[in-house]
Amino acid sequence: MEQYKGKTILPNIAIGKIWIYSKVSQEIPKYPVEHPEEELVRYEAAKEQALLYIKECYEKSLEEVGEEEATIFLAHQMILMDEEYNQKVCDVVIQEKVNVEYAVLQAQEHFVAIFSSMDDDFFKEREADFRDVSKKLLSILLNREACTVTIQEPSIVVAKELTPGETIQMDKSKMLGFVTEIGSTNSHTAILARMMNLPAIMGVEVQEAWNGKMAALDGEQGILYIEPEQGVLDKLKIRQRELLLQSSSLENLKGKETCTKDGKKISLYANVGSVSDVKYALDNDAEGIGLFRSEFLYLGRETAPTEEEQFEQYKAAAVLAKERNVVIRTLDIGADKKVDYLGIPQEENPAMGLRAIRFCLENPEIFKTQLRAIYRASAYGNLSVMYPMITSCQEIVGIKRMVETVKAELTQEKIPYKEIEQGIMIETPAAAMISDELAKEVDFFSVGTNDLSQYILAVDRQNPNLDAFYNPYHPAILKMIQMTVENGHKAGCKVGICGELAADERMAEKFLEMGVDELSVTPRRILPMRQHICNLHLS
Ligand code: PEP
Ligand code: MG
Repeated sequence: MEQYKGKTILPNIAIGKIWIYSKVSQEIPKYPVEHPEEELVRYEAAKEQALLYIKECYEKSLEEVGEEEATIFLAHQMILMDEEYNQKVCDVVIQEKVNVEYAVLQAQEHFVAIFSSMDDDFFKEREADFRDVSKKLLSILLNREACTVTIQEPSIVVAKELTPGETIQMDKSKMLGFVTEIGSTNSHTAILARMMNLPAIMGVEVQEAWNGKMAALDGEQGILYIEPEQGVLDKLKIRQRELLLQSSSLENLKGKETCTKDGKKISLYANVGSVSDVKYALDNDAEGIGLFRSEFLYLGRETAPTEEEQFEQYKAAAVLAKERNVVIRTLDIGADKKVDYLGIPQEENPAMGLRAIRFCLENPEIFKTQLRAIYRASAYGNLSVMYPMITSCQEIVGIKRMVETVKAELTQEKIPYKEIEQGIMIETPAAAMISDELAKEVDFFSVGTNDLSQYILAVDRQNPNLDAFYNPYHPAILKMIQMTVENGHKAGCKVGICGELAADERMAEKFLEMGVDELSVTPRRILPMRQHICNLHLS
């Protein structure tokens, strides 16, 4: 038996075989070929299939979204038919005598380099079209449903690193837990593990030789056992049963109020990333959804979700939640949540770059598509909308302008919608410091302690070497939260907390004393938190 220590991400236990997720296996292979002409035949067949697929997409979006959006597929078709693009692929195959997949990748890089160096924004954006088309061709050639990661049997997934996009692509029903070498406790991958309720540890040096071996993951102690001894297995199985019992003993708290012994109430909402999470959250008796991270709908795919696709998701969430409030946060893309197709430039400091509301205000079509989907879905339940990474009142002006345009369009198109509450995330020091002014502009605040901590403390939440410096209990953070609550309440604004700190039992008393109205936590923390709060006596 060998054992390795890591950092706890979710304290639960998993026992099973290891499956090593290697990015190399997802990468594009390069190998010499004897008969390049056979590769060109494969290319023609793949191209035909890709053209059919693009035609279908074009027709579907024409029908469901409109002509303007559908033109993207015309652009894709043009690339596939483009003489220069095809010539580049053929040249690489013939001249280098290599497989066609590698040639497609080379053609992609070639054209991406040309277009990304152009000054004109319109041409710059064509770079994403080349990536999309090449990706589709590669998924056909490699017989890989692009963007899906296949796990054969229920396993503990072990990887050097997992991005949020990769994590979201994995089949959750086959993931018993996961272990990574690189990763910080506050990254979105860690947050996803908690939302998916998967035992997880990070910071373990991964060895390829573990693939297929039996293992036990003790998420409580942060230990991975390879080929565990019977004694260790027995202990972990007992603990696993205890944890299960503990969670079933919380069942009787369902339907109860979250209220301290001396009568102070607080709402317990859930953070989710998908419609299935909404169901899981409601099963765990969430009083509402305080944070629907809509960007997860954008990860692990080749193109942005259309208005119709988003509408269906938000509507499903609203319908499931019935009268309970569901707060949809608009696209918080950027930093560690990356997608190729949006063409976000490579940045030195992406956490302080073109992310979240900045990206949306710079890309009004993407923003408008999402807001239309949210407003259309508002007719089916109790939705609110919330904007991430706010730093100024100016941004609210831009947001309101877009909201008005969307509502005017829907009215004109006779599409029903409701007037919904508008909220913002307080997750930058700037927003906390001007929360008195911001409170006059919106209906509610939600404090994002994950980002707020990183920006106040100047600690990159992605950097695993800085975990020790990431102190969310720092007085500077608590003072800013207190100030935000006071400023919010003065203007009649509700104030919740939706960062990971909301789920920290050590902070519950403090937040109640501050007068926080709502805590939004990962679904599996709702009942334990309710139990904790119900046992508190404040005064
Ligand atoms: C936060 O920053 O606290 C937050 C809830 O948003 P995210 O973790 O998605 O950045
Ligand atoms: Mg954030």
